[in-house]
Amino acid sequence: MGAQPRRSRPDDGHADALFALEDLDPCQERLPRAGAGPLFRDTPAARRLLAVTEIRAEAAAAASQRGRQILARFPDARVLPVASHWAIPDLHGNAGNVDRWVRIKREVLVLGEKKTLTTRPNGRSADWIAPSSANGCAMACAYCYVPRRKGYANPITVFTNIERILDNLSRHVARLGPKPEGNQCDPAAWVYDIGENSDCSVDALISDNVGDIIRSFARWPSAKASFATKFVNPDLLLLEPKGRTRIRFSVMPQADSKLLDIRTSPVESRIAAAGEFLEAGYEVHFNLSPVVLRPGWETAWADLLRHMDDVLPTRVKNQAAAEVIMLTHNEDLHDLNLGWHPRAEDALWRPDLQEPKRSENGGINVRYQRAVKYDAVDRMRALVARQAPWLRIRYAF
Ligand code: SF4
Repeated sequence: MGAQPRRSRPDDGHADALFALEDLDPCQERLPRAGAGPLFRDTPAARRLLAVTEIRAEAAAAASQRGRQILARFPDARVLPVASHWAIPDLHGNAGNVDRWVRIKREVLVLGEKKTLTTRPNGRSADWIAPSSANGCAMACAYCYVPRRKGYANPITVFTNIERILDNLSRHVARLGPKPEGNQCDPAAWVYDIGENSDCSVDALISDNVGDIIRSFARWPSAKASFATKFVNPDLLLLEPKGRTRIRFSVMPQADSKLLDIRTSPVESRIAAAGEFLEAGYEVHFNLSPVVLRPGWETAWADLLRHMDDVLPTRVKNQAAAEVIMLTHNEDLHDLNLGWHPRAEDALWRPDLQEPKRSENGGINVRYQRAVKYDAVDRMRALVARQAPWLRIRYAF
């Protein structure tokens, strides 16, 4: 049985106003190079995304070296103590309208310590999921699964015990030793996803956690970091990853992105940045995701892939690979989106094409019906083969 619409939609003028307010493209100009001026994170463009005025901090996190560095970066921010980064009722949860959520995402930071450090097997995008150095996001994509535990309004929580996170990771890498044989994640290196619960490019506007992780992987010849991003942060060009970090720029047709990827860098900017990230020592891949089935989706994806074929340098194409990920949505998120961005739900909520599936945490996810999904994956593969034959698909689901 397909998923059902749950209630009628309010007027959707609000979301259009939000797009105008939040339109953000810090990457219209060529990306700055090392030594070419101030860090991007100190510019007005970066502050449009993150203008921290309030920091909720666990005591140990605030007292740590990383915590003190972050507090020093935002000297005018009000610092409020919290017992646990997990439970801040007036911040987390879904109450309140989107103006408040976006303000919280933009103005509030949480500092905490990562208590449970585990490296989990994955096997699809990466071999392993590394312990997070942050969770939450300053952007607000309408389909985002990251807020599933803390609620949609979750601002970024930075974990300040980065030494313990790196220690855990380095011991894991050492225990594994060299990868015995290649797989679709990578032909030679163990791949660790370092951005499961946040966007590392935005996290790097706040602290050196991401830089520390990337520099560590640069020293580990058997391992490689990997993260997906929808934001172009030129400061990452200065980190010298030495080929040991894979940045995966997520792309989708610009019309879908404008509707669904709130507060992110425009898709064209993400594609335009690929060459410079490769030059700076990253492996550059693409996430074709999420693929949202709507009238005209194949034409829109064909246009996007043709654009990539037109503008990407040959050296990017020679090493690129892609993940194709069909949209998974969620019933609670659907209800929530109807309250602030109902036009997104016209594209995301398709009971005629979707079926429910209970998720690990008990919520109801909706995904495209099996036959619909297989057909769409085949069509995406054919589009890539036709428009961007150089783009190897690592996996599609
Ligand atoms: S950029 Fe990623 S983590 Fe941030 S809101 Fe969008 S999907 Fe979620």
